[in-house]
Amino acid sequence: MEKISVVVPCYNEEETVPLFYKEISKIIEKMKKQVTFELIFINDGSKDKTLVELRKLAKQDKKVRYISFSRNFGKEAAMLAGLEYATGDYVTTMDVDLQDPPYLLEEMLRIIHEEGYDCVATKSTSRNGYSFFRKFCTKWYYRIIGAISKTEMVAGARDFRLMTRQMVDAILSMKEYNRYSKGLFSFVGFDTKWIEFENQERVAGTTKWNFWKLFSYALDGITAFSTVPLVLSAIMGILFCFIAFIIVIIIISKTLIWGDPVSGWPSLACIIFLVGGIQLFCTGIIGQYLAKTYLETKHRPIYIIKETEKM
Ligand code: UDP
Ligand code: MG
Repeated sequence: MEKISVVVPCYNEEETVPLFYKEISKIIEKMKKQVTFELIFINDGSKDKTLVELRKLAKQDKKVRYISFSRNFGKEAAMLAGLEYATGDYVTTMDVDLQDPPYLLEEMLRIIHEEGYDCVATKSTSRNGYSFFRKFCTKWYYRIIGAISKTEMVAGARDFRLMTRQMVDAILSMKEYNRYSKGLFSFVGFDTKWIEFENQERVAGTTKWNFWKLFSYALDGITAFSTVPLVLSAIMGILFCFIAFIIVIIIISKTLIWGDPVSGWPSLACIIFLVGGIQLFCTGIIGQYLAKTYLETKHRPIYIIKETEKM
């Protein structure tokens, strides 16, 4: 019989782990004639009793496996660890807060079996449960990255998807340190069917993302999947040289025609600030890429495991 591995990253989720287990168990029971399951929880350095909950589950249910990190490495690292650890013919990644409804798994598996897709991915139709500001930033982020990256990023896409072993292996073959899953999933290709569902609110606990965490994650996405900002800074440089050249010609002609009264220093100061600012901005962009390259070349481990269910 085929097996589905369910990869579930958890960071300070002591309240939601038991709720998630209860919900997914219903689906496992419902689908038991078709497939077997394996649940892989990743404790991403939680500071609460998440690990205690996971140990308890692993003891009472052989299907439950867990990996516990030595500290918080982030959701991307947790998902990677789960994918590497998974042994199933199909692998799905899900949030533990039940914002990814487990009942969809049945339909997703049916689509892969009957319609021949390699992957079924989900997106939520609305973003209820998120602040107006977050919705606004998300919308614009997807517009910008859509315009500057060749890898397609679907707006509203969740990390909840069911993939075949072949696709999982393709993702695992990408060993990069700065991981941005939405891009990686899209980069490997394969036939993906998108299904939509109404956004769910978190069952318990609070979101683990604050503005700065999301902002830096968004920047990761841009630097990992687009080099357009570098081109833009070069274009800006050329543009400003051109403008400066025209201004020089104007100034020289003016001096030749009307002489040289000392005036115009305020405009000069403005120009110096503007050009200086743009230079710093461009250096900053280059710095971002350099920093990412630097981290890649160090080959540090993406996560460090402290405990698993076998230990
Ligand atoms: N998560 C994680 N490590 C982190 C942050 C989040 O493993 O550093 C997990 C979290 O436990 C949850 C999932 O990632 O299962 C999504 O997080 P959350 O629900 O807080 O994000 P949101 O739904 O607000 O985007
Ligand atoms: Mg959530």
